[in-house]
Amino acid sequence: MSDNPFRKLPSVTQVLHAAPVVELGTEYAHEQVVSAIRDELASLRKRLAAGDSPDGAVSADSVAVAAVLRLRQAVRPKLRRVINATGIVLHTNLGRAPMAEEAARAAYEAAHGYLNLELDLETGKRSSRQVAIREWVCRLTGAESATAVNNNAAATVIVLRALCQGKEVIVSRGQLIEIGGSFRIPEIMAVSGATLHEVGTTNITRLSDYARAISPNTGALMQVHTSNYRVSGFTKSVALADLVELGKKHKLPVIDDVGSGALLDFARFGFSGEPVVPRSVAAGVDVVLFSGDKLLGGPQAGIIAGRMELIQKIEKDPLMRTYRLDKMTLAALEATLRLYLNEERALREVPALRMLSTAADQLRPRAEALAERLRQVPGVSVRVADDVAYVGGGSLPDQAMPTVVLEVEATGLSDDEFARRLRSQTPALMGRLRDGKLVLDLRTVFPEQEPQLVDAIRQATT
Ligand SMILES: *Cc1c(COP(=O)(O)O)cnc(C)c1O
Repeated sequence: MSDNPFRKLPSVTQVLHAAPVVELGTEYAHEQVVSAIRDELASLRKRLAAGDSPDGAVSADSVAVAAVLRLRQAVRPKLRRVINATGIVLHTNLGRAPMAEEAARAAYEAAHGYLNLELDLETGKRSSRQVAIREWVCRLTGAESATAVNNNAAATVIVLRALCQGKEVIVSRGQLIEIGGSFRIPEIMAVSGATLHEVGTTNITRLSDYARAISPNTGALMQVHTSNYRVSGFTKSVALADLVELGKKHKLPVIDDVGSGALLDFARFGFSGEPVVPRSVAAGVDVVLFSGDKLLGGPQAGIIAGRMELIQKIEKDPLMRTYRLDKMTLAALEATLRLYLNEERALREVPALRMLSTAADQLRPRAEALAERLRQVPGVSVRVADDVAYVGGGSLPDQAMPTVVLEVEATGLSDDEFARRLRSQTPALMGRLRDGKLVLDLRTVFPEQEPQLVDAIRQATT
C-alpha cells in the first residue's frame, strides 16, 4: 500500500520542531508538550482508521496548532474569571462580594511580599495579627474589642466553644436556621461542645420562654438572625434589648449572630429588617458575630466583636489557631474596614454597596446602550425589560430589587445551549434564566467588563 494514509502523519519530533510548538518556549514542561502531541496524533490515527480523510490536518504545522490548543485546554485553570450578569450581588457560587480595588490591592501586596503580620514595628516585638483589624472594628461598631476568623460559621463555633463548652445555650426555635452549605445551628452547636436548649415555637418566642429555661447550667443566651428566610404572619420574637436585660439579670452573656454584617443601615437602599452591627453593640450585646463577605463587601471572614474579657477568652482557645485568617485576607479585610471610616467612600468604593444602591433607573441607560451594541451582532436579538433581582448570599431573601435586564436570544440556539456557550468563554459570562429566557442583569456587571460581555456573546454565536 503505497499511499498508506498513516505514513503521512508527522513524527512527534517533527511536530516538536514546528513553529507553533517552538513558539511556546518554556511555558510548558517538555513532557506536557510531548504528551499533547501524542494525544493529537493518536486522535488523528483514529480518524484515519475510521476512513476519515483529514487532509489539511496532517501536516506538522497543523498537528502542532491542534496540539497547542489541546495543551492549553488540558491545563486551563479550574478557577476562572466570570462576568456576573445574574444581578445577584452576593452570589455564593461566584465568590460572594467582589472586593474594593483598595482591598484587592492590599491582598495582592500582602501575597507578593513581606509584611508586619505579627510584628510591632514600633518596638520590634512580636504582636498579634488581630491588631490589624481590632481597632477598626471597634471604631466602626462601638465594641470594646474584636477578633476575626475564617468565616462566620467558624466564628460561631469558636465563640460557643470558648464561652459555653459543656453548658446550655438558649436559642429560640424560630431561629434554628440552616444557611446554605450545611451550616445548621443545632449541628454547629453540637461540634462546639455546647448544648442547644430550644425555647418557644417556630413562630412565637417570648421573653418568659428564655427566662424559664435559665438554669445554673446555662452558658449564654443566643440570638441568630434568620438571614435567609422570614417567618411571617402571626409571629413574636423578643427584642434584643429585652434579651440583654435578661442576660444582665442572670449574669449570662448574650451572643448575637447577625449574619450579614451590615455596618450601615440598608433601609436607606429600601431594604428592611437587616440587623446593623453597631446597633447590636449599642443594645448591649456581649458578643456579635458577622461575615466579612456578605453585606460588608469584603473578603471571606468571620468577625467577632464584643466585650474585651470575652474576646480574650476566645483568642486563648486552642482551636483559634486552626481558624485564623491568612495574611491576604487580613490585609483585604483591614482595607475594607478602613474604607468604612468614611461612609461616603465606602458607598462609592465597596462594590457590593455600590451595586445594591444602584436604582433601576440608573441601569436603564446602560442597558439601552448595550442592547444597541448587541443588536449589531449577527444572529442575536435583544430586548430591554424590567425585572426584579435578589441580593443573594442568604441575605434579604424576601426583598426583590427592581432592576433592568437584557433579554437575549441567539438564532438557532436553545437558551440552555446559549447559556452553556457563554459560560465557556474567557471570561465566562453568567446570566440568569427568567421564565426559560436568558437575561443579563447589568447591576452586577462592572462597566469596564461591557466590551468583554459583547465579545463573549459574539464568540458564543459564531
Ligand atoms: C451566612 C450566615 C452564617 C454563615 O456565615 P459564613 O461567613 O458563610 O460562614 C452564619 N449565621 C448567619 C445568621 C448567617 O447569615
